[in-house]
Amino acid sequence: MIEFDRQHIWHPYTSATAPLPVYPVVSARGVRLQLADGRELVDGMSSWWCAIHGYNHPALNAAVTEQLDRMAHVMFGGLTHGPAVDLAEQLLRLAPASMEHVFFADSGSVAVEVAIKMAVQYQVARGRPHKARLLTVRGGYHGDTFGAMAVCDPVTGMHQLFSAVLPKQIFAPRPERRFGEPLQTGDMDDIERLLAEHADELAAVIIEPIVQGAGGMWFYSAAYLARLATLCERHDVLLILDEIATGFGRSGRMFACEHAGIEPDILCIGKALTGGYMTLAATLASHRVAQGISADGGVLMHGPTFMGNPLACAVANRSIALLLERDWQAEVASIEAQLRAELATYADHPAVADVRVLGAIGVVELHDEVDVAELQRRFVAAGVWIRPFGKLVYLMPPYIIDPDDLSALTGAIDLAL
Ligand SMILES: *Cc1c(COP(=O)(O)O)cnc(C)c1O
Repeated sequence: MIEFDRQHIWHPYTSATAPLPVYPVVSARGVRLQLADGRELVDGMSSWWCAIHGYNHPALNAAVTEQLDRMAHVMFGGLTHGPAVDLAEQLLRLAPASMEHVFFADSGSVAVEVAIKMAVQYQVARGRPHKARLLTVRGGYHGDTFGAMAVCDPVTGMHQLFSAVLPKQIFAPRPERRFGEPLQTGDMDDIERLLAEHADELAAVIIEPIVQGAGGMWFYSAAYLARLATLCERHDVLLILDEIATGFGRSGRMFACEHAGIEPDILCIGKALTGGYMTLAATLASHRVAQGISADGGVLMHGPTFMGNPLACAVANRSIALLLERDWQAEVASIEAQLRAELATYADHPAVADVRVLGAIGVVELHDEVDVAELQRRFVAAGVWIRPFGKLVYLMPPYIIDPDDLSALTGAIDLAL
């Protein structure tokens, strides 16, 4: 199996001829992944932000099988169903009050494409077709499709190869002020100037609120985000928040934009939406945006084949219900406290550039890039699943992790040093 995989299958961001090693998993339960050779690994990644309740959860399994007995899928053109309607209702209850319309997409990247289309269509519909570009900040990550790639960080966003075919968007510097810090004079000068200069050609600003994920695992000041929302309004530019990584409690709030007390015009969610069970994402929009697009008979020009898949919607409904039944704020807060205490011990190590923690996310940034294959081998030998990238070794465990398992993860980071 490993040999066939190595010869014929692409894994994320890997070479076909010299791939990094992969580890075969046969099952997973709670916070543990079981490898084919019988070893068990404590999961520190939640399968890239998704598996917030852990793996093989009885209630989520039941949600899928119950829905499976009714129907696995039906087209969403001309048909609708309970799981999708229930999910839209739940999402609108949880999301910032400005959100009133839901578009179901089949992955985070597609949700971002849809958000961009909404913004551009909105500007066209109100007679401003020249407002068709996007402004974002460096250090961001919004997905791997073309519209999304164009707003990923041009250097850390992994898509420099495509610069010749990507639309040229406008980049402000990364928000440098850390989470928890107030703004200083000058912090917003660059983005404010760019917004003012380009207001006539800008459809929207797109940004990950508070937590920049795959572009660098950086946590920035809520005051920056709050001020940015005000600037967008002043310059008649829509605000798209990409909460695909942060949604559903990861930063300590249900949605990270709550740290700044702001409401977007368009909101993208995904990843933890189904508790890590199936691919599903959504783009939410304000009444103003939806009305604008649909004025004079306009329609939103998107419609994936698997839109609103009933299995995915059913498990998303159950995942959200599980989250709300539990005291997830307390779970995330206690993970945060333990990450802070245990990762702090690395801060003075000469190999470490920075240690930062927010919600159930802990990051140890090194001075040098890690050797992923070698480090992964050591992590697996130590019984943990941690997947570093670049100079970043980070943890974002399922919320159900217990203190001993979390200590196993934080302790293993020593292997990277
Ligand atoms: C993962 C991610 C995406 C892309 O989601 P996919 O489901 O991988 O397409 C977009 N934006 C952010 C912030 C993400 O973390």
